Amino acid sequence: MKNGSSSAQIEHVVKLVKEMGLKDHVIVGEERTVVACIGSDRLKNRGALETCEGVDKVVPILAPYKMASREVKKEQSVIPLMAGRMNDKSPVIGGKKVGVIAGPCSVEGRSQILEIAHMMKEAGAIGLRGGAFKPRTSPYAFQGLAVEGLKYLAEAREQTGLAIVTEVMSIDQVDVCCEYADVLQIGARNMQNFNLLNKVGETKKAVLLKRGMSATLEEFLLAAEYIMARGNSNVILCERGIRTFEDYVRNTLPLAIVPELHRVSHLPVVVDPSHGTGKSYLVESMCKASVAAGADGLIVETHADPEHAFTDGAQSMTPAMFTDMMTSIKRVATAVDREV
Ligand code: PEP
Ligand code: MN
Repeated sequence: MKNGSSSAQIEHVVKLVKEMGLKDHVIVGEERTVVACIGSDRLKNRGALETCEGVDKVVPILAPYKMASREVKKEQSVIPLMAGRMNDKSPVIGGKKVGVIAGPCSVEGRSQILEIAHMMKEAGAIGLRGGAFKPRTSPYAFQGLAVEGLKYLAEAREQTGLAIVTEVMSIDQVDVCCEYADVLQIGARNMQNFNLLNKVGETKKAVLLKRGMSATLEEFLLAAEYIMARGNSNVILCERGIRTFEDYVRNTLPLAIVPELHRVSHLPVVVDPSHGTGKSYLVESMCKASVAAGADGLIVETHADPEHAFTDGAQSMTPAMFTDMMTSIKRVATAVDREV
């Protein structure tokens, strides 16, 4: 739409788009409003839209992902972590500030999660992570505390104000996760679970979408598109490392994806150097590198006693390591005109 187009003009365009059998998404940006028209067919009656009052131009979006594309929205998106809960005071990912989400791989018990939550808050985190439903390679391994874990996470939010980030593994877990948590994490193993993507797309919660361990950038953004096409634009992309031939690390962390995602998409990008390396002593360096590469946030595993962690102890930072890391990324953030 033209700069300064009226809401009546926008509504008229939306009406026409619907009549054409297309799905409309109105994206209100700082400079202009865009009416995204989604449909599998080519736009047949382009002329009818082009001549509408208030319309600046009708442009086909070339990328296979549309809503997630930078072509549709030029400004970087800022995602409130507590979307649909307490919007006003919600911490955000995507602004000048690099937001840090930290906490254990798994919720192991009430005192464990409350203790680490206070430590993370103290050290400057804006979100608390912790898995209540865990995707484990072995069916005999610890599977998470499920709803009990969600309750402890909610209690940690009450005490600290941290936004709660937790993984949802299946459609039937979405409602209960929405009840207790703020940000729904879609794990790497579920990045192409299209039914799950659709389901979280129907919620209003922020979604932290992790890149699948063998997914291309395009597949990653098409997964984000599933969520957005259902009406939920609160998507945060998370690079967590991919499978390669290299085995000195658990995964290879390809940081070039950060500026590349920023080039082709308006969605904020968070990096997970814990799963991205698998080794706690590598995490601080990769946090610094991520911030230098332009990451909008970090998600880091921490544990008060990593040696006894139920899951992912080897890659979990102690609170002391985490505090040091927060200090060192501040200096990098300043160098790249960001804040922590
Ligand atoms: C996790 O965050 O603990 C996790 C299982 O991550 P990923 O899906 O990236 O392996
Ligand atoms: Mn983990």
